[in-house]
Amino acid sequence: MVKHDAEAFHFPEQYDPLPELTDEVDRLWHEGRNKSALDVVLRFLRTEGRSAQAFGWALMLLRSGMRRTPDPGVVEPVTQEQIGNPYFAPVATECARCTKFWYSAHAQENFENLVLSNPIGLQCQVCRYSLCRNCLDSRNRNCPNGGCLGELGAPVLPTGRPLGQPANPYTEKLEHVLILWRSTPTSQDEAEELLDLACTWQERDGITVRSQVNQSDERDGEEAERRMGLVLVGLYERHGMISEDGLLQRTRVVPIQSPGRGHRLVFVTAAPETGVASQLSGPVTYLLFDEPDTDDEARPPRKRRWFRRGR
Ligand SMILES: [Zn+2]
Ligand SMILES: [Zn+2]
Repeated sequence: MVKHDAEAFHFPEQYDPLPELTDEVDRLWHEGRNKSALDVVLRFLRTEGRSAQAFGWALMLLRSGMRRTPDPGVVEPVTQEQIGNPYFAPVATECARCTKFWYSAHAQENFENLVLSNPIGLQCQVCRYSLCRNCLDSRNRNCPNGGCLGELGAPVLPTGRPLGQPANPYTEKLEHVLILWRSTPTSQDEAEELLDLACTWQERDGITVRSQVNQSDERDGEEAERRMGLVLVGLYERHGMISEDGLLQRTRVVPIQSPGRGHRLVFVTAAPETGVASQLSGPVTYLLFDEPDTDDEARPPRKRRWFRRGR
């Protein structure tokens, strides 16, 4: 029998409070600035890793963002991007059938006083297999997970999002990230989102993130786009901006469909185990300067080419 919460964060019964985080988040929350409060939590998770206190705040704020009737006291509501951010996946509950996910209140509540009315979904109390309201069969509460004798009910605890947003299997520290774009340049906000998607839980201290226009011909397909990016990674390595063997041994390519902004290819280079790049620290440097080099909107941007297309 498969357990369905392998990727979930399991709250310990007790944990140390983090006053630095709590003071700031609590202040923003009382001002109704839930989006900013959640951004503070997100930045904390990115740099410090998983934390019960941070996940506790995240759950409360994310649940406020999933309410159907907006709270008039909230001036800055939580956004859809925040709700879907992979850093919050460990405290989400995912429907095992349709991959709909939600943030349940039960993770931090006292189960004895649990009153369940109109639940978003139910969960097997043995293996944590979960079904959303739409996928539930109201006449049958037996767990559909093969070999499990449990029943679907409450509490509904986090499962992670293994189907929709599986945990990033890479854990190395990062050294360099290159983003290739086509029609819409990458902003810093988007670059941070792409890093969250491609490099969840990887240490990004002191790394350089570049974005550049993809100059391969679109008709040549994704393979040519990848080659173009790898050529650039090799070029940066030769110029000493990526340490030795970065291209051949530590670079992976992550294609991402960025909503409203088109296709992006992200070239993630991990840091080597030893040497200067393994000790990088400080803020991330964003070099997102590669804008189309013309002010004239009517004229298409001139394309600069680093290498000739084969004939
Ligand atoms: Zn479902
Ligand atoms: Zn079960």
